[in-house]
Amino acid sequence: MSKNKILVFIATYNENLNISDLFFDIIKISPDYNVLIIDDNSTDGTKEILEKLSATHTCLTVIHRPRKMGVGSAHRAAMIYALKNEYDQLVTMDADFSHSPGTIPQMLEKLETLDFVIGSRYMKGGKSDYEGYRKWVSLIANKLARLTLGIKIHECTTSFRAFRVSLFNNLNLSAIKSNGYSFFLECVYELKCVDAVMAEVPIHFKDRFHGNSKIPKTEIFRSMYKLAYLFRSRFYKKQTQLSNPAEIKTSCYFCKSQCIVEINHEDTFNDIAGAQAYKSKSLEHKSKPQVVNCLVCDLSFCP
Ligand SMILES: [Zn+2]
Repeated sequence: MSKNKILVFIATYNENLNISDLFFDIIKISPDYNVLIIDDNSTDGTKEILEKLSATHTCLTVIHRPRKMGVGSAHRAAMIYALKNEYDQLVTMDADFSHSPGTIPQMLEKLETLDFVIGSRYMKGGKSDYEGYRKWVSLIANKLARLTLGIKIHECTTSFRAFRVSLFNNLNLSAIKSNGYSFFLECVYELKCVDAVMAEVPIHFKDRFHGNSKIPKTEIFRSMYKLAYLFRSRFYKKQTQLSNPAEIKTSCYFCKSQCIVEINHEDTFNDIAGAQAYKSKSLEHKSKPQVVNCLVCDLSFCP
């Protein structure tokens, strides 16, 4: 049996106290794992640590982005990167040790016969160290998602996930718009919509080892809005005309990345989404060329 090509992905922003130890813990599990880290212009030395690590470890690829472009945008970029570089399985996780790398083999074993596996705090055997309002907001958001979106698993919001990469040929990553933390909920809902076979494994979610939480309080309201929006879309599912990144063959004119999503389809300028791609509210001109956006340098361009 041929061996799976496995990519482990981490998004970083100011993780100088965690990232090096986490990287070594991951590659200790298996020498076959490749690691991708996307850094959103950290200012605490993380960038320099990553440069040193990638210079001495060929299994590590680092992508530096020019500014904070959002954790959801980083995860979309990683998914497209895994697809275009022909990986079989993608694991995503936080940079702060709230997810234990030791759980990765168990998730990958389960993934052998499935499309998607998530580390779950809320299934039997799972545990979360969250306290206070964060504990209740997270618990209620996950219960609501299960009830309103018809998702069978108990956890939709953690980033500790394993994907069968060929699934991204069906999952339209151009149409998932959330760039912040609500991406995680939207992504699970879209997986459900393409009939992905999913499962969960129990995890003990630990509070971050070093540093402060990066989740702004406004993200709670954004996630609630997203939940209401997704609930509505169960009944009024908008058919997107945007091309799946799997079909987009162009590379970024500026940084040469292949992590490209479509933001305006050639003939869709007669809707508001199309108008936004041109930063124009005018719907006068009905015919405009396709616009794509690079998830690495944020350049939007006509291919
Ligand atoms: Zn670019």
